[in-house]
Amino acid sequence: MSRVALKVLSDSSPALNAPQFIRGEGIHLIRDDGAVFVDAASGTFNLPLGYNHPEIVEAVVEQVRRYSHLSSTIRTDRGPNALDELIEQAPSNIQAGWFRDLTGSTANECAVKIAQKSSGKTDILSLFLSHHGQTQFTTAISGNSFRRKQFPDALSPHSIKMPAPYCHRCFFNATPSSCGMMCVEKIGDFLEHASSGSVACMIVEPILGNGGNIVPPPGYFQAISKLCAENDILMIADEVQTGMGRTGHLFASEAFDWKPNIITLAKGLGGIGIPVAAVLYEARLDVLDSHDHSFTSGANPVALAAMTATLKVLRSGEVLADVRRNGVKLGALLGALKEKHRSIGDVRGLGYMWGLEIDKPDGSPDVSRTEAIIKAAAASHNLILRGSRYGFGNVVKVRPPLIATEGDLETIVTRLSRAITDVERAG
Ligand code: PMP
Repeated sequence: MSRVALKVLSDSSPALNAPQFIRGEGIHLIRDDGAVFVDAASGTFNLPLGYNHPEIVEAVVEQVRRYSHLSSTIRTDRGPNALDELIEQAPSNIQAGWFRDLTGSTANECAVKIAQKSSGKTDILSLFLSHHGQTQFTTAISGNSFRRKQFPDALSPHSIKMPAPYCHRCFFNATPSSCGMMCVEKIGDFLEHASSGSVACMIVEPILGNGGNIVPPPGYFQAISKLCAENDILMIADEVQTGMGRTGHLFASEAFDWKPNIITLAKGLGGIGIPVAAVLYEARLDVLDSHDHSFTSGANPVALAAMTATLKVLRSGEVLADVRRNGVKLGALLGALKEKHRSIGDVRGLGYMWGLEIDKPDGSPDVSRTEAIIKAAAASHNLILRGSRYGFGNVVKVRPPLIATEGDLETIVTRLSRAITDVERAG
């Protein structure tokens, strides 16, 4: 029998590829030779409480001791109680939810199913550079052709993509002060000329995460809300990256004063990387039957235990207030880096979710320098960062766990600055 080599996904940083990390401690990863790395990417953006927050570890261990799975046909209060606790914290128009997913991809599929089933309509609006998941369907509605082209079923006939509110590289070549927000104004044209005339929903990440940490300009969400209301289109906030406190608010839609009809959560929901996802929505959208969307490990009790404990930590402590306050400082520190380093073209973000756009002198994206900075940070400065593969690939993302202190943020920015200096000196 022939053996096929197991392919392991590699990160852009070679220092991270070797399997030598043996322990996580707070915001740090520790190597077998004792070297301590600061993880400024929060794992895969899914460790809001770091690697081993004691309250989450405790809750998970306690749950595993009792049971780690129950069939969905057996009644337990764990699921309904956990869902109620989450809904209690959600924006006021949200009163119901679906708790049968483990990943952000299928949670987004669930949200679209809800929009389509409740409205009887078909089409889905989404944005260029968006990322909504890796299933065939969520690949189809995400805004990147390079991820779709080898998979013929990853092209939904009902998907309509429109320019993102990306002011630093505006699709319309306009400037924010004078554009009249064309990225919203032109949606009417897409509805008229590109849709089937039956649009169910628009799905948007409050900050486009993998596309390059793109923060929409003030008024964007109010403008799309008006347009969607006028055209009877449901709004889905994909908060898989932005939810659970990342912006200093439990839901980023609150930070933008946006009231979507449906919100999806995953990644940070399990606190320390325990996989769990949720779909929250208005009561009138409670239309799914259990056979419409349900997975074996959905509402897994261990995952729910982690989620409940995570919510408790975020609600009871000062974590969110700290992220709001320290996030301003992080933005100021990163803004100062832009003054110091000629390769930084833009700095944007909120809370603990920031991106540095690395540009060539002519303003075009500098992908190789971006990758070099991320590699230098890991190899020479023990700092773990990630890039934006689904955008132009030229954004260094700075997203430490929410438990990072002011001192940790200073350390991160100092090390990042040294890594940029190394790369700029190398030419
Ligand atoms: N939506 C967004 C905004 C994401 O960033 C991701 C994952 N990077 C997903 C959905 C898909 O989540 P998952 O990988 O858990 O399926």
